Amino acid sequence: MRWPTREMWNIIEVESNAGTHKMITKLLKVSFVIVAVGFLFAPYGLAMPNDDDFSVLSRLGYFAPAPLELELSSDGKTLYNAGFPVVYVAHPDSSHEPVRIPAPFYLLTAPESATATFSITYVPNGGTDLWGEPCYTFPSEGQTPFNAAASIWGNIIQSAVPITIRACWADLGSSSILGYSGGGPLRRDFSSAPRPLTWYSGSLTNALAGSDLDPSYFDMHITYNLNFSWYYGTDGLTPAGQYDLMSVVLHEIAHGLNFSGSMSYSAGSGSWGYGTGYPNIYDTFMRDGSGNQLIDTGVYPNPSTAIGTALTSNNIWFHGSNAMAANGGVRVKMYAPSTWAGGSSYSHLDYTTFNDTENELMVYAFSSGESVHDPGPVTEGLLKDLGWHKKVDFDFDGDRKSDILWQYATDGTVAIWLMNGVAIASGGSPGVVSDPNWEIKGVGDFDGDRKSDILWQYATDGSVAIWLMNGVAIASGGSPGVVSDLDWEIMN
Ligand SMILES: [Zn+2]
Repeated sequence: MRWPTREMWNIIEVESNAGTHKMITKLLKVSFVIVAVGFLFAPYGLAMPNDDDFSVLSRLGYFAPAPLELELSSDGKTLYNAGFPVVYVAHPDSSHEPVRIPAPFYLLTAPESATATFSITYVPNGGTDLWGEPCYTFPSEGQTPFNAAASIWGNIIQSAVPITIRACWADLGSSSILGYSGGGPLRRDFSSAPRPLTWYSGSLTNALAGSDLDPSYFDMHITYNLNFSWYYGTDGLTPAGQYDLMSVVLHEIAHGLNFSGSMSYSAGSGSWGYGTGYPNIYDTFMRDGSGNQLIDTGVYPNPSTAIGTALTSNNIWFHGSNAMAANGGVRVKMYAPSTWAGGSSYSHLDYTTFNDTENELMVYAFSSGESVHDPGPVTEGLLKDLGWHKKVDFDFDGDRKSDILWQYATDGTVAIWLMNGVAIASGGSPGVVSDPNWEIKGVGDFDGDRKSDILWQYATDGSVAIWLMNGVAIASGGSPGVVSDLDWEIMN
């Protein structure tokens, strides 16, 4: 069986949504796929289970594209058109009280310190997105919040490879879909892949490998619905009745960073692995309420109604250590409503638990008048569990707020202000380094505990030393070695 075709989808959509969508000819879709896939490799069509996600969505008045037909590279290690489309919907409850969460100040004030960059291609008027949806001119004023959202991510994650996004401004009708994303290639068993036989998003693959393994493909495809009243400001002061585009871009980019997995659902049965037998890295952290991994085939055969039941149990949890640490030490509840909602279920944080909290960005729905410009610690922890290296910027106590490091010139006293906005929450001195030959060469997170550490070097003999910090205290310290040839300089 194959995925529902675009034409099937449109018929369903016309029935449910007053026929606001134009039919796309199969020829257009096929020709686009041919162009996208190219001829650098011999693609193999994969037999995939059928899926009724999107007819369910249509009955709810949602609009989302059908998943594309998957294509496997000849070496079997790249899966094209693979990221399932995930949707972000306008909150159906108009009485919902909007919240405003600003970006951490150091993200917006230090764009020059970005540790990842994004390359955004706006599909011109007359083009189509990956799913064949016609695109209109992306409003120029919408590109400012798009860049601002990318800049926030660029100051959180680390990648030496620019992350590429193809963005479409589409007429998705009067549905409640703010936008959808997906479709990027997935890769497995590349050099430095942390987990074997596991699919990773293109963006994460490139970041882990340190080079662009497939520069002819976009890492993310994101489409926005032009029918909403969008707010293009970046100040978070979204007027009532408008939707903050910057927040929605921030949300969709997170999906493109691998905040989604391979679980699918059809007529009560759940399955994973895109028909390949290999999980997405996101899937590997998911457990049921009893702690069983959903990909443990000893408990959950693949496919099975047992998986389907679990996916609709309101009892699915993410068990990554970093996400849990950011969640008060407890497992992270995921969105798993009793009726499967394709594009929403499984690929978002639980709504009841996380809406109206600092972790609201990755719940499935977003309200008018809101602004959420900080991904929140749970989402950042989740991405770190998936394999993303996070930037920690002069944050000695790990509260995700930058602190200030001082040194007194004449006697070498080191001091730290632990900051909370413009206020000094607390402060102290880890020690006095009276020998002026010891110089602070940098600040970084050497032990991965989300707290910045201090890197020293002795000027005359090249000894290197590190203080592993915990707030203003030195948790431990040591020397990785001596680099006596002083032509070797530590780069920052
Ligand atoms: Zn989403």
